[in-house]
Amino acid sequence: MLHFLNIFIFLLGLCAGSFLNCVIYRLETGKDFCGGRSYCPQCKKQLGFFDLIPVLSFLFLKGKCRYCSQKISLQYPLVEISTALIFLLIFNFQFLISKQFSIFIFLNLIYYWLISCFLIIIFVYDLKHYLIPTKIIYLATIISLIFNFQFLISKQFSIFNSAIVSAANVGLFFWLIVLFSKEQWLGLGDAKLGLLMSLFLGFPKIILALFSAFLIGAIIGLILILLGKKQLKSQVPFGPFLIVGTFLALFWGKEIIEWYLNHLVIF
Ligand SMILES: [Zn+2]
Repeated sequence: MLHFLNIFIFLLGLCAGSFLNCVIYRLETGKDFCGGRSYCPQCKKQLGFFDLIPVLSFLFLKGKCRYCSQKISLQYPLVEISTALIFLLIFNFQFLISKQFSIFIFLNLIYYWLISCFLIIIFVYDLKHYLIPTKIIYLATIISLIFNFQFLISKQFSIFNSAIVSAANVGLFFWLIVLFSKEQWLGLGDAKLGLLMSLFLGFPKIILALFSAFLIGAIIGLILILLGKKQLKSQVPFGPFLIVGTFLALFWGKEIIEWYLNHLVIF
């Protein structure tokens, strides 16, 4: 039964990823890609059902449009597969662990899936355009705030405080860096993303997410400089690192923090 459920969720994730690609395309061009029939971004030819199956179409067509033979971006299958894997991880880490099924836990699952979708869009968009789309980050922040308010209503004050207090602190911390560096080290978009991450993760996971983001960012930055792909002064978008940190903390945060605290006690 669980296998079928996992397969179903993987397929659902692939379709969600396919939709996210549409949303990204729309953000980039302002053109409606999702409503009505989908078409090839290059030759504008309308695509049939068999051109639109996530991942499989890409493999079957060997990454080229059936009509104009132009290359289809690797972004399409990569976003589809990543979304499917993240959907599966959230289901298995957040949902199955609780072992009880209620409407509340189901809504919880939908919330985590939804915010992850927003994060995937921001990841791709920032990586390509060095810009965090304002509409997406505001929408996600509002949904996350509403979700956190239920803890206030159900009197789970510690969860509510953890999210709100860390959001306030991280928001302020990032905003100060933005202000001092005149947006050279961090953009205003990153500060907004930091706030969303805090609402989504709460304390202490947010600390781990930020730490991992800075660490991975520094390592990748160093590798890019050593390979001669970037100079010390070149711009590297920070949003994707923040989002990788968020997913690390979301899925393995508890284990990493416990491991860290155990080793800290020894020394
Ligand atoms: Zn084409």
